[in-house]
Amino acid sequence: MSSLRLYNTMSRRAEEFAPAGDEVKMYVCGITPYDHSHIGHAMSYIIFDVLRRYLEFRGFKVRHVQNYTDIDDRIIMRANALGRPFDEVAEEYIQEYAEEMRELNITPATIYPRATHEMPTIIEMVQALVEKGYAYRTEEGDVYFRVRKDPAYGKLSGREVDSLMVGARVEPGERKQDPADFALWKAAKPGEPAWDSPWGPGRPGWHIECSAMSYRYLGATLDIHGGGQDLIFPHHENEIAQSEAYTGVKPFVRYWLHNGWLTLDEEKMSKSLGNIITIREALDKYGADAIRIFVLTAHYRAPLTYAEESLEGGKRAAERLRLAATLGGGEGPPADIDPEASRRRFVEAMDDDLNTAGALATLFDLAREVNRARDEGRATEPAQATLRQLAGVLGLTLREPGTDEGAGRFIDLLAELRNELRSRKIFDVADSIRSRLEELGVSLEDTPDGTRWRRRG
Ligand SMILES: [Zn+2]
Repeated sequence: MSSLRLYNTMSRRAEEFAPAGDEVKMYVCGITPYDHSHIGHAMSYIIFDVLRRYLEFRGFKVRHVQNYTDIDDRIIMRANALGRPFDEVAEEYIQEYAEEMRELNITPATIYPRATHEMPTIIEMVQALVEKGYAYRTEEGDVYFRVRKDPAYGKLSGREVDSLMVGARVEPGERKQDPADFALWKAAKPGEPAWDSPWGPGRPGWHIECSAMSYRYLGATLDIHGGGQDLIFPHHENEIAQSEAYTGVKPFVRYWLHNGWLTLDEEKMSKSLGNIITIREALDKYGADAIRIFVLTAHYRAPLTYAEESLEGGKRAAERLRLAATLGGGEGPPADIDPEASRRRFVEAMDDDLNTAGALATLFDLAREVNRARDEGRATEPAQATLRQLAGVLGLTLREPGTDEGAGRFIDLLAELRNELRSRKIFDVADSIRSRLEELGVSLEDTPDGTRWRRRG
């Protein structure tokens, strides 16, 4: 069997992949829950899900950590605009994201740490960086990382520190010693959520949380660190500087993997530009498999352009695969199909830096052979079993869209009806809705802001 090769952003070439230990330590940057997640997020998490599924298919054990940046300027702004506590707003978008990931058939991470739950680790790391001379506190109570103290700074993005000076912004009130320095800890402004620290009340900068969480849950060296290409600089560059300065261990990451951008009308889809297709909209309209096929038809490092026709095409392709994989075969003699040849081609494509387009082509060829054999009245197992297994490696559900997606809104509706019944004091029926949902694995929880629900397992 060939070996898996992955393109490493650090070395700028494809390298043979092997984990350092007996499990693959993988960290993927998670969302900042301040708004609905969009299809650009779906793309990134589908890609890293396929990487994880393929690693497991190849026999590796994977420990996958993905964070939630649940405190951030944008969350605070959003919460202020809504007149609600920041943590409630973050929690709501986290729950929504988790439900969407479930519908997209994304394998849950081993652990989802949150910045606000990791303050001791973060503060410990910042303190050690100050003690080692890599960081300094300003009069205002901010702490900055001293970029020039790290001679290798810029190695991931290929930037020179001096070129960062040009265009580096110093915000009013900032007292950086050097414009290239970046914040590890931000002193709280009046009215902002804050945590106690040796530098006064404040909150962590964005970059340090990923260094702290990856260290706590995976150790000093990760096998794989993933994220979008937009995170290479400054986020991942800063993570390297902090982590290597803190642990003294190099490299912080053995393989850096970055996915391309999703564009819409030639511009990156982003919340700030306002050109957003939410995951919810895409799921309702096309279903999970269509979205996955749309994403996997391109190479993960290439930019992908959102177009309705492409998603419609994905929907038709998903239906073809579903029928080929699930319809019963004929009663005749076994089909003359060699599923092992398909499996070999699939593995060859995926081993080549996750050539998912090639892997999908193998599935469609196999589907065509299955259909032809069925038309001839032949038995189509075990070719169909291979088709289902390989489709599963790409995370395809092979379910009819609408049979599961959108269940969340029906649960919302039931929760609403239950509250209506309670307000009319029809408690027995209200309780029966709750216990029937419980039997189906959905727990309702009454909070001062209304009823929330959670799916178990
Ligand atoms: Zn990160």
